[in-house]
Amino acid sequence: MEVLNNYINGDWKQSFESHAVDVINPANQDVLAKVPFGPGNARDVESAVKAASSALSDWSHTPVNQRVQPLFKLKTLLEQSKEELAEIITRECGKTKVESLGELTRAIENVEMACGTPALIQSEFSEDIASGIDEFTIRQPVGVCACIAPFNFPGMIPFWFLPYAIACGNTFIIKPSEKVPLTMSRLFQLIDQLDLPKGVVNMVHGGKETVDALLTHPEVKAISFVGSSNVARYVYSKGTANGKRVQAQGGAKNPVVVLPDADFEMTTQIIADSVYGCAGQRCLAASTVISVGDIQRDFRDAIVENARLRTTGFGLEEGVEMGPVISSDSKERISGLIRKGINEGANILLDGREAKISGFEKGNFLTPTILENVASDGDLIKTEIFGPVMSLLHMKTLDEVISFINAGQYGNMACLFTSSGANARKFRNETMAGNIGINVGVAAPMAQFPFSGWKDSFFGDLHGQGRHAIEFFTQTKVVIERWPKAWSRKF
Ligand code: NAD
Repeated sequence: MEVLNNYINGDWKQSFESHAVDVINPANQDVLAKVPFGPGNARDVESAVKAASSALSDWSHTPVNQRVQPLFKLKTLLEQSKEELAEIITRECGKTKVESLGELTRAIENVEMACGTPALIQSEFSEDIASGIDEFTIRQPVGVCACIAPFNFPGMIPFWFLPYAIACGNTFIIKPSEKVPLTMSRLFQLIDQLDLPKGVVNMVHGGKETVDALLTHPEVKAISFVGSSNVARYVYSKGTANGKRVQAQGGAKNPVVVLPDADFEMTTQIIADSVYGCAGQRCLAASTVISVGDIQRDFRDAIVENARLRTTGFGLEEGVEMGPVISSDSKERISGLIRKGINEGANILLDGREAKISGFEKGNFLTPTILENVASDGDLIKTEIFGPVMSLLHMKTLDEVISFINAGQYGNMACLFTSSGANARKFRNETMAGNIGINVGVAAPMAQFPFSGWKDSFFGDLHGQGRHAIEFFTQTKVVIERWPKAWSRKF
């Protein structure tokens, strides 16, 4: 079985670590590859940082218009390879091919956005702040930057950072999730075709050892992390304690709220898509659905019917709308949360725990699950489920809903369905979440907007994507220059 190589200094390099773990297709448990995983990964990081540090000076002094040229080529290569990449994502991550293609579209949008870096990086200039004195800012690269990625969007999330980082003159190291390293390995075969100077982008595999080596290496100046909140908190505190700038996006618990004046049909469809898309393994997946006022019963019946009709299976098969969850451990954890919710008094309306998919009996499948009368302080409501499970709650007023949302641990997304502009405005103003959807079920920001997140869903200041990324990957220098008129010479 193939053991994946790192990509360091423009070459494929075998890891210093001899132990390797399996990369598994979650639909059938087939072993797709092996990935090096252990203490030896720290030596891989050492090599990658050395390469990225050596490349830094020349790359940071390459004019920005030249630095973005490889990104134009990358966009073309990504578009040409979309189908093939989507199949790799589906095989190792489990989502449907349509979902895999969707995430690649989002990756390409970020590459396009970063192609505009020559304009985005332009500085401010004030002439004559005093007589003969001008003041301006220069944005300079931060240095060697690294991205630590989660399993659920292997083809998209690294692109919230990579194109901006290199366009801004930094060099870069990516650590993909050990659960889904094949997508990034294939992407690096494309990156290899960009004629970037050696060492500008590098990839190292592994897990905690790789992450810790990046967090403590003095030459690494910035870390972009996306993953669960406990690890995000750890990465943020260890990275900042080691003097790095860190943006760490964490987990989520995204409530969606339905008011009695919502467009009923559209709302049902959008909410079911939000909960069950990517089998609920999205940081913007809805999982708690709160109805307000007297629509409770009709809405409940419609959403159960919608969920029941969804086709679960292997994501490369025609007509499949939902794939498996990432691992058997994950399936067990989700089933345990459902069991606990029922023990705490919840009523299960649709039970997906005994899913049987013909031809894929070993897969980590759950079909859509819905519970009602869930204890509002139970684990189903408080913790991130990251699976295809919907909990229905009912509340009397919008004020009650907003207080409930604001008391929660996470703040990634909150959505409201209504035809009232005033209620929508109140919700968007008062709800403590970084991404708000109004009549939208997955409020995922386009590349020109920051991918926000509040409370335990984000640790740091500047977010990924758009202008925030340009700011994160540059440090600002303020220059004040005095050139008195009297000093000018006549030639
Ligand atoms: P994870 O936290 O388990 O892993 C993320 C990365 O951290 C991986 O590369 C992994 O190798 C590394 N890692 C894991 N444990 C570590 C440890 N103890 N020390 C150092 N590094 C460690 O997350 P995951 O399961 O891969 O991804 C799912 C999570 O990511 C969910 O919580 C989801 O909400 C979150 N997520 C958040 C966003 C966002 O934008 N907020 C986007 C996508 C996913």
